[in-house]
Amino acid sequence: MILDGKNVSSKILIKVKERVDKLKIKPHLVVILVGNNPPSKIYVNNKKLAAEKVGIKSSIIEFPDNVTEKELLDKIVELNDNSEVTGILVQLPLPQHIDKNKVIMAISPKKDVDGFTPENVGKLVIGMKPYFYPATPQGILMLLDEYNIKVEGANVVIIGRSNIVGKPMTQMFINRNATVTLCHSYTKNLEEKIKTADIVVSAVGKKIVRCKMVNKNSVIIDVGIFKDVNGKITGDVDFKLVEPTVKYISPVPGGVGPMTIASLMYNASIIYS
Ligand code: NAP
Repeated sequence: MILDGKNVSSKILIKVKERVDKLKIKPHLVVILVGNNPPSKIYVNNKKLAAEKVGIKSSIIEFPDNVTEKELLDKIVELNDNSEVTGILVQLPLPQHIDKNKVIMAISPKKDVDGFTPENVGKLVIGMKPYFYPATPQGILMLLDEYNIKVEGANVVIIGRSNIVGKPMTQMFINRNATVTLCHSYTKNLEEKIKTADIVVSAVGKKIVRCKMVNKNSVIIDVGIFKDVNGKITGDVDFKLVEPTVKYISPVPGGVGPMTIASLMYNASIIYS
Protein backbone atom coordinates (compact mmCIF):
# COMPACT_ATOMS: atom_id res chain seq x y z
CA MET A 1 0.00 0.00 0.00
CA ILE A 2 1.31 3.42 -0.93
CA LEU A 3 1.65 5.96 1.88
CA ASP A 4 0.25 8.93 0.02
CA GLY A 5 2.07 11.93 1.47
CA LYS A 6 0.51 14.27 -1.06
CA ASN A 7 -3.01 13.43 0.02
CA VAL A 8 -2.29 13.35 3.76
CA SER A 9 -0.37 16.62 3.61
CA SER A 10 -3.33 18.31 1.86
CA LYS A 11 -5.60 17.24 4.72
CA ILE A 12 -3.13 18.59 7.30
CA LEU A 13 -2.79 21.89 5.44
CA ILE A 14 -6.58 22.30 5.42
CA LYS A 15 -6.62 21.83 9.20
CA VAL A 16 -3.73 24.29 9.62
CA LYS A 17 -5.57 26.86 7.52
CA GLU A 18 -8.73 26.43 9.59
CA ARG A 19 -6.69 27.01 12.73
CA VAL A 20 -4.90 30.05 11.32
CA ASP A 21 -8.19 31.55 10.11
CA LYS A 22 -9.47 31.49 13.68
CA LEU A 23 -6.41 33.24 15.13
CA LYS A 24 -6.75 36.91 16.07
CA ILE A 25 -3.02 37.53 15.60
CA LYS A 26 -1.69 36.02 12.37
CA PRO A 27 1.57 34.05 12.42
CA HIS A 28 4.50 35.55 10.53
CA LEU A 29 7.26 33.24 9.30
CA VAL A 30 10.57 34.82 8.32
CA VAL A 31 12.91 32.71 6.18
CA ILE A 32 16.55 33.75 5.91
CA LEU A 33 18.29 32.79 2.69
CA VAL A 34 22.03 33.24 2.23
CA GLY A 35 23.67 33.12 -1.19
CA ASN A 36 22.61 31.78 -4.55
CA ASN A 37 22.24 28.04 -4.03
CA PRO A 38 19.48 27.14 -6.59
CA PRO A 39 17.91 24.24 -4.59
CA SER A 40 17.81 26.46 -1.47
CA LYS A 41 15.99 29.14 -3.46
CA ILE A 42 13.42 26.61 -4.63
CA TYR A 43 12.91 25.24 -1.08
CA VAL A 44 12.51 28.76 0.33
CA ASN A 45 10.00 29.77 -2.33
CA ASN A 46 8.03 26.56 -1.79
CA LYS A 47 7.85 27.30 1.93
CA LYS A 48 6.67 30.84 1.22
CA LEU A 49 3.97 29.62 -1.16
CA ALA A 50 2.80 26.96 1.31
CA ALA A 51 2.64 29.54 4.09
CA GLU A 52 0.57 31.92 1.98
CA LYS A 53 -1.87 29.14 1.09
CA VAL A 54 -2.66 28.52 4.78
CA GLY A 55 -2.88 32.21 5.65
CA ILE A 56 0.52 32.51 7.34
CA LYS A 57 2.32 35.72 6.51
CA SER A 58 5.81 34.95 5.24
CA SER A 59 8.85 37.00 4.34
CA ILE A 60 12.16 36.04 2.80
CA ILE A 61 15.24 37.95 3.88
CA GLU A 62 18.09 37.44 1.43
CA PHE A 63 21.78 37.94 2.16
CA PRO A 64 24.66 37.66 -0.30
CA ASP A 65 27.20 34.82 -0.05
CA ASN A 66 29.73 37.13 1.58
CA VAL A 67 27.48 38.23 4.46
CA THR A 68 29.40 38.21 7.74
CA GLU A 69 28.44 35.96 10.61
CA LYS A 70 27.86 39.06 12.74
CA GLU A 71 25.42 40.57 10.23
CA LEU A 72 23.46 37.35 10.21
CA LEU A 73 23.46 37.03 14.00
CA ASP A 74 22.39 40.69 14.37
CA LYS A 75 19.45 40.08 12.04
CA ILE A 76 18.37 37.06 14.08
CA VAL A 77 18.54 39.07 17.32
CA GLU A 78 16.40 41.75 15.65
CA LEU A 79 13.83 39.15 14.54
CA ASN A 80 13.81 37.53 17.99
CA ASP A 81 12.95 40.94 19.48
CA ASN A 82 10.25 41.69 16.90
CA SER A 83 6.98 40.55 18.46
CA GLU A 84 5.29 40.61 15.05
CA VAL A 85 7.59 37.77 13.88
CA THR A 86 6.43 34.39 15.24
CA GLY A 87 8.70 31.98 13.35
CA ILE A 88 12.31 32.16 12.12
CA LEU A 89 13.90 29.69 9.77
CA VAL A 90 17.44 29.84 8.38
CA GLN A 91 17.72 27.88 5.16
CA LEU A 92 20.70 25.48 5.24
CA PRO A 93 23.38 25.01 4.01
CA LEU A 94 25.20 28.22 4.92
CA PRO A 95 28.50 29.36 3.37
CA GLN A 96 31.60 27.79 4.97
CA HIS A 97 32.77 30.99 6.72
CA ILE A 98 29.60 31.02 8.83
CA ASP A 99 29.28 28.77 11.88
CA LYS A 100 25.94 27.06 11.30
CA ASN A 101 25.60 26.05 14.95
CA LYS A 102 26.16 29.61 16.16
CA VAL A 103 23.41 30.80 13.84
CA ILE A 104 20.97 28.11 14.94
CA MET A 105 21.75 28.80 18.60
CA ALA A 106 20.93 32.50 18.09
CA ILE A 107 17.29 31.74 17.18
CA SER A 108 14.82 32.06 20.03
CA PRO A 109 13.57 28.51 20.84
CA LYS A 110 10.03 29.90 20.84
CA LYS A 111 10.44 30.98 17.19
CA ASP A 112 12.56 28.01 16.09
CA VAL A 113 9.99 26.43 13.74
CA ASP A 114 12.62 23.94 12.49
CA GLY A 115 13.13 22.63 16.03
CA PHE A 116 16.92 22.74 15.64
CA THR A 117 18.00 24.87 18.64
CA PRO A 118 19.74 23.13 21.55
CA GLU A 119 16.81 23.90 23.86
CA ASN A 120 14.29 22.23 21.56
CA VAL A 121 16.59 19.29 20.75
CA GLY A 122 17.48 18.89 24.44
CA LYS A 123 13.86 18.88 25.50
CA LEU A 124 13.13 16.21 22.89
CA VAL A 125 15.97 14.05 24.24
CA ILE A 126 14.93 14.27 27.89
CA GLY A 127 11.30 13.59 27.04
CA MET A 128 9.98 17.13 27.61
CA LYS A 129 7.73 18.79 25.04
CA PRO A 130 9.86 21.06 22.84
CA TYR A 131 8.34 24.26 21.45
CA PHE A 132 8.72 22.70 17.99
CA TYR A 133 9.51 19.23 16.66
CA PRO A 134 11.74 19.04 13.55
CA ALA A 135 9.54 19.06 10.47
CA THR A 136 10.62 15.92 8.61
CA PRO A 137 10.45 13.43 11.51
CA GLN A 138 7.21 15.02 12.73
CA GLY A 139 5.78 14.72 9.19
CA ILE A 140 6.80 11.04 9.04
CA LEU A 141 5.00 10.31 12.32
CA MET A 142 1.93 12.18 11.05
CA LEU A 143 1.99 9.96 7.94
CA LEU A 144 2.31 6.73 9.98
CA ASP A 145 -0.49 7.86 12.31
CA GLU A 146 -2.80 8.66 9.40
CA TYR A 147 -2.47 5.04 8.23
CA ASN A 148 -2.80 3.72 11.81
CA ILE A 149 0.62 2.10 11.62
CA LYS A 150 1.58 1.01 15.10
CA VAL A 151 4.77 2.64 16.38
CA GLU A 152 4.65 1.42 19.97
CA GLY A 153 6.82 -1.66 20.34
CA ALA A 154 7.90 -1.57 16.67
CA ASN A 155 11.46 -2.42 15.67
CA VAL A 156 12.57 0.61 13.70
CA VAL A 157 15.69 0.90 11.56
CA ILE A 158 16.73 4.42 10.60
CA ILE A 159 19.45 4.84 7.99
CA GLY A 160 21.27 8.20 8.15
CA ARG A 161 22.18 10.12 11.30
CA SER A 162 21.75 13.77 10.30
CA ASN A 163 20.67 16.38 12.85
CA ILE A 164 17.62 17.19 10.74
CA VAL A 165 16.27 13.68 10.13
CA GLY A 166 18.01 10.62 11.59
CA LYS A 167 18.84 11.81 15.10
CA PRO A 168 15.54 13.56 15.95
CA MET A 169 13.60 10.74 14.27
CA THR A 170 15.39 8.25 16.55
CA GLN A 171 14.40 10.22 19.62
CA MET A 172 10.81 10.72 18.51
CA PHE A 173 10.39 6.98 17.88
CA ILE A 174 11.94 6.18 21.28
CA ASN A 175 9.52 8.65 22.90
CA ARG A 176 6.71 6.71 21.20
CA ASN A 177 8.02 3.44 22.73
CA ALA A 178 9.60 1.98 19.59
CA THR A 179 12.97 0.18 19.64
CA VAL A 180 15.36 1.98 17.32
CA THR A 181 18.54 1.01 15.51
CA LEU A 182 20.21 4.07 13.99
CA CYS A 183 22.47 3.13 11.06
CA HIS A 184 25.10 5.09 9.14
CA SER A 185 28.03 4.55 6.81
CA TYR A 186 29.98 2.56 9.43
CA THR A 187 27.11 0.18 10.24
CA LYS A 188 27.88 -3.50 9.75
CA ASN A 189 25.31 -5.94 8.32
CA LEU A 190 22.87 -3.21 7.27
CA GLU A 191 20.97 -5.66 5.11
CA GLU A 192 20.22 -7.98 8.07
CA LYS A 193 19.04 -5.07 10.19
CA ILE A 194 16.69 -3.81 7.49
CA LYS A 195 15.34 -7.31 6.87
CA THR A 196 14.13 -7.76 10.45
CA ALA A 197 12.70 -4.24 10.93
CA ASP A 198 9.00 -3.44 11.18
CA ILE A 199 9.59 0.14 10.04
CA VAL A 200 12.53 1.36 7.94
CA VAL A 201 13.26 5.08 7.51
CA SER A 202 15.95 5.75 4.93
CA ALA A 203 17.55 9.22 4.88
CA VAL A 204 20.79 8.78 2.96
CA GLY A 205 20.62 10.44 -0.45
CA LYS A 206 21.58 7.44 -2.58
CA LYS A 207 20.00 4.10 -3.60
CA ILE A 208 20.36 1.93 -0.54
CA VAL A 209 17.21 -0.11 0.10
CA ARG A 210 16.86 -3.01 -2.33
CA CYS A 211 14.18 -5.65 -2.78
CA LYS A 212 16.16 -8.49 -1.18
CA MET A 213 16.60 -6.49 2.07
CA VAL A 214 12.93 -6.06 3.00
CA ASN A 215 10.26 -8.39 4.37
CA LYS A 216 6.58 -8.68 3.48
CA ASN A 217 5.45 -6.85 6.64
CA SER A 218 7.91 -3.95 6.28
CA VAL A 219 6.82 -0.33 6.35
CA ILE A 220 9.30 1.60 4.21
CA ILE A 221 9.67 5.36 4.55
CA ASP A 222 11.87 6.94 1.91
CA VAL A 223 13.24 10.34 2.91
CA GLY A 224 15.98 10.58 0.27
CA ILE A 225 15.64 13.02 -2.61
CA PHE A 226 18.18 13.20 -5.38
CA LYS A 227 18.41 13.10 -9.16
CA ASP A 228 19.19 9.82 -10.92
CA VAL A 229 21.52 9.56 -13.93
CA ASN A 230 18.66 10.73 -16.19
CA GLY A 231 18.01 13.79 -14.03
CA LYS A 232 14.79 12.32 -12.62
CA ILE A 233 13.93 12.92 -8.94
CA THR A 234 14.24 9.68 -7.00
CA GLY A 235 14.64 8.32 -3.47
CA ASP A 236 16.81 5.87 -1.49
CA VAL A 237 14.53 2.91 -2.16
CA ASP A 238 14.40 0.83 -5.31
CA PHE A 239 10.67 1.59 -5.47
CA LYS A 240 9.72 -0.48 -8.49
CA LEU A 241 11.02 -3.75 -7.06
CA VAL A 242 10.43 -3.07 -3.35
CA GLU A 243 6.85 -1.80 -3.60
CA PRO A 244 5.22 -5.17 -4.49
CA THR A 245 7.06 -6.98 -1.69
CA VAL A 246 6.25 -4.82 1.37
CA LYS A 247 3.19 -3.82 3.37
CA TYR A 248 3.51 -0.03 3.12
CA ILE A 249 5.87 2.25 1.24
CA SER A 250 6.17 6.00 0.74
CA PRO A 251 6.99 7.12 -2.81
CA VAL A 252 9.44 9.78 -3.99
CA PRO A 253 8.16 12.24 -4.99
CA GLY A 254 4.81 12.41 -3.19
CA GLY A 255 5.74 10.88 0.16
CA VAL A 256 7.88 12.49 2.84
CA GLY A 257 8.53 15.71 0.84
CA PRO A 258 4.96 17.09 1.03
CA MET A 259 4.64 15.81 4.62
CA THR A 260 7.69 17.88 5.59
CA ILE A 261 6.11 21.02 4.17
CA ALA A 262 2.77 20.33 5.90
CA SER A 263 4.55 19.63 9.17
CA LEU A 264 6.54 22.85 8.87
CA MET A 265 3.36 24.82 8.24
CA TYR A 266 1.81 23.18 11.28
CA ASN A 267 4.80 24.44 13.28
CA ALA A 268 4.64 27.89 11.70
CA SER A 269 1.00 28.23 12.74
CA ILE A 270 1.94 27.93 16.42
CA ILE A 271 2.49 31.21 18.25
CA TYR A 272 4.29 31.48 21.58
CA SER A 273 4.14 34.81 23.32
P1 NAP B 1 22.93 13.76 5.26
O1 NAP B 1 23.44 14.81 6.15
O2 NAP B 1 22.99 13.95 3.78
O3 NAP B 1 23.68 12.42 5.67
C1 NAP B 1 23.50 11.18 5.01
C2 NAP B 1 23.53 10.07 6.02
O4 NAP B 1 23.56 8.83 5.31
C3 NAP B 1 24.80 10.07 6.92
O5 NAP B 1 24.45 9.82 8.26
C4 NAP B 1 25.64 8.93 6.34
O6 NAP B 1 26.44 8.26 7.31
C5 NAP B 1 24.56 7.99 5.85
N1 NAP B 1 25.08 7.09 4.82
C6 NAP B 1 25.76 7.41 3.71
N2 NAP B 1 26.08 6.30 3.01
C7 NAP B 1 25.59 5.26 3.73
C8 NAP B 1 25.62 3.85 3.56
N3 NAP B 1 26.20 3.28 2.50
N4 NAP B 1 25.03 3.07 4.48
C9 NAP B 1 24.41 3.61 5.55
N5 NAP B 1 24.36 4.96 5.78
C10 NAP B 1 24.95 5.75 4.87
O7 NAP B 1 21.43 13.38 5.66
P2 NAP B 1 20.10 14.25 5.47
O8 NAP B 1 20.39 15.70 5.50
O9 NAP B 1 19.13 13.65 6.43
O10 NAP B 1 19.66 13.92 3.98
C11 NAP B 1 19.49 12.57 3.53
C12 NAP B 1 18.60 12.56 2.29
O11 NAP B 1 17.28 12.97 2.68
C13 NAP B 1 19.01 13.53 1.18
O12 NAP B 1 18.69 12.95 -0.05
C14 NAP B 1 18.14 14.74 1.43
O13 NAP B 1 17.92 15.49 0.26
C15 NAP B 1 16.87 14.08 1.89
N6 NAP B 1 15.99 14.89 2.72
C16 NAP B 1 14.69 14.93 2.37
C17 NAP B 1 13.80 15.64 3.14
C18 NAP B 1 12.36 15.64 2.76
O14 NAP B 1 11.61 16.47 3.22
N7 NAP B 1 11.92 14.69 1.94
C19 NAP B 1 14.22 16.32 4.28
C20 NAP B 1 15.56 16.25 4.63
C21 NAP B 1 16.45 15.51 3.85
P3 NAP B 1 27.66 9.00 8.07
O15 NAP B 1 27.02 9.86 9.12
O16 NAP B 1 28.45 7.87 8.64
O17 NAP B 1 28.40 9.80 7.04
